[in-house]
Amino acid sequence: MMSRSFDKLPKDVISFSEESQISSFPSNGYIGDSSFLSTLKAIDTPPLFRYNKTMEQKKIRAIVTKENFFGESDKYISVFAKDEGKISLLCKGAKKQTSPFLAITDPFIYGDFIYEKSKRNNYLKSVDVIESFPKIREDILKLAYANFFAELINRSFAENVAGNDVMLLLLRCLKFMNSSQNHPSSTACVFILKFLKYMGYMPELYHCCVCGSDSVEDVYTPYGLVCKKHSHSGVLLPERSGDFLRYILENNTPAVLKTNFKESLQLEKALLLSLRTHIGEEMVSYKFIEKVDMR
Ligand SMILES: [Zn+2]
Repeated sequence: MMSRSFDKLPKDVISFSEESQISSFPSNGYIGDSSFLSTLKAIDTPPLFRYNKTMEQKKIRAIVTKENFFGESDKYISVFAKDEGKISLLCKGAKKQTSPFLAITDPFIYGDFIYEKSKRNNYLKSVDVIESFPKIREDILKLAYANFFAELINRSFAENVAGNDVMLLLLRCLKFMNSSQNHPSSTACVFILKFLKYMGYMPELYHCCVCGSDSVEDVYTPYGLVCKKHSHSGVLLPERSGDFLRYILENNTPAVLKTNFKESLQLEKALLLSLRTHIGEEMVSYKFIEKVDMR
């Protein structure tokens, strides 16, 4: 496999070649100088991928967040990659029954993806699957929630904007849902609140978000909790919801995922107010959750 041969490249050769590129950088170069431009290009290109002259090959660790069928036999997938963010990959022939891509490019496949980059497309070459979350695939409600998390990511990130915190949050929530018997709404509360935090939309949980008073009620608005005086502007939450939200915020994700909050479905609906305000009104995948949730 290509990735293996890349891994074997000795590090000192790479750094030596980088140094030699930089030392040949002309001190009096200007834009019209073609040798200057070619030197600049050589520096921009990562040394690992310089050996293929026509197509640049890249390896990313990523999770599939969306698939789109295209034409007779091809499909596009969106992956969310460590350090790289959202990337679109074309899987040639993926719809054919004999395709090696058939099961390994499904949503929520997590693994190492190797693709070739041309001017128009990124062509998927191979996938080394790390985790496929089979229990999520078997359960329509879990799958609906996983799709909802993925939609939030796809809508909030432009291509090639990294979000490693969000990626790790998604992986931890999927891992938990894959192993847990609980209704996914507690996981959803954790995902939504931490997602809002990482995206810079953290709701205020310690002071009234209208007047700043430090005595807050279990009453929620899109911007956070409010005091008694301003409680007419929000929705009433189940008892101790404020405590649970602060507990989610103050503790690490694997720990808080294990806590099953009894009234999590009501809390999840309240947190949606913040998502609707900051991310957008229409959440297609959430409508599907409401359709399949029999609770
Ligand atoms: Zn207030």
